Amino acid sequence: MIDRYGRELYYLRLSVTERCNLRCRYCMPAEGICKLRHDQMLTEDEMIRAVRAAASLGMYKVRITGGEPLVKPNILSVCRRVAETEGITETVLTTNATRLAALARPLREAGIRRVNISLDTLNAEKYAFMTRGGVLAEAINGIEAAMEAGFEKIKINAVLIGGFNDDEIPALAALTRRWPADMRFIELMPMPGDTLFGEHAYIPVSRVPETLPEAEPAAEQDGVARMYRLPGGLGSIGLISPLSNHFCSNCNRLRLTADGHLKPCLHSREEISIKGMNEEQMAEAIRQAALLKPRQHDPLSRSERSHAARPMNQIGG
Ligand code: SAM
Repeated sequence: MIDRYGRELYYLRLSVTERCNLRCRYCMPAEGICKLRHDQMLTEDEMIRAVRAAASLGMYKVRITGGEPLVKPNILSVCRRVAETEGITETVLTTNATRLAALARPLREAGIRRVNISLDTLNAEKYAFMTRGGVLAEAINGIEAAMEAGFEKIKINAVLIGGFNDDEIPALAALTRRWPADMRFIELMPMPGDTLFGEHAYIPVSRVPETLPEAEPAAEQDGVARMYRLPGGLGSIGLISPLSNHFCSNCNRLRLTADGHLKPCLHSREEISIKGMNEEQMAEAIRQAALLKPRQHDPLSRSERSHAARPMNQIGG
């Protein structure tokens, strides 16, 4: 499926729940979310129908995300059915890893090929602060379990936040020597309504190579990330820069929220509801969403916030 600007859209990010067992300060309000009624959310069958519709248009990669996908009771069934969908060749998942100790192997067996794990700090107190009560050891145990479960690739993602974890760039980067995983640093995006962070929090990921003079640019490419490698590193270091250098010209994705809204662009208000549709109608809605995809979103900066009408946990990061 090619959009109006010649980009091939092959990647669907499927948010399977808005709920999360953490409350990260940049992602979710402290009081959690105003839970939508059960009948307002997509059912498992509707999610699978949407994936089939996407596959019928040539989309072949699905990332299962949330909220926290692993709090969803039927997550293994959703993953298995997505992975078994004809035409879907890459089923991958994003998680905070706190429930991976028990679920890593079953997820791998259900057909999840790769996982992205969110981890912003290696300090238990800071982890509890940023996640409003999360336990770092649970995430680390989950990462260890993922390493054992045979995924094709594991990436660890940290949102870089000035004054919070910029002092941990060396320690986080050194995880690539401990585990055969990539460590990616992502710029904090100013989402609507999040006023918790001052301007100093929004720092460019160029801070990472400045802090790590021994890191060398790596030959391999990874989508939107600029890649580096530490001497002796088993994995690479990636830099993702939604603020300092947006990557709209390479955008290849559509998002589907847990309440059934297609989002052509993460940072725009535009949404199309597919709740209650049959597969053919869903395919038509996906085509419409592709046509509505803007060339690029308005710039994001320390002072210019995203135009998304929802916080990240409701979009599916
Ligand atoms: N619960 C899962 C997790 O923790 O990975 C999946 C959903 S979470 C919304 C996906 C990713 O979005 C996380 O890596 C999170 O750090 C990132 N995220 C949320 N809000 C963000 C923001 N304002 N700026 C940059 N990244 C953000």
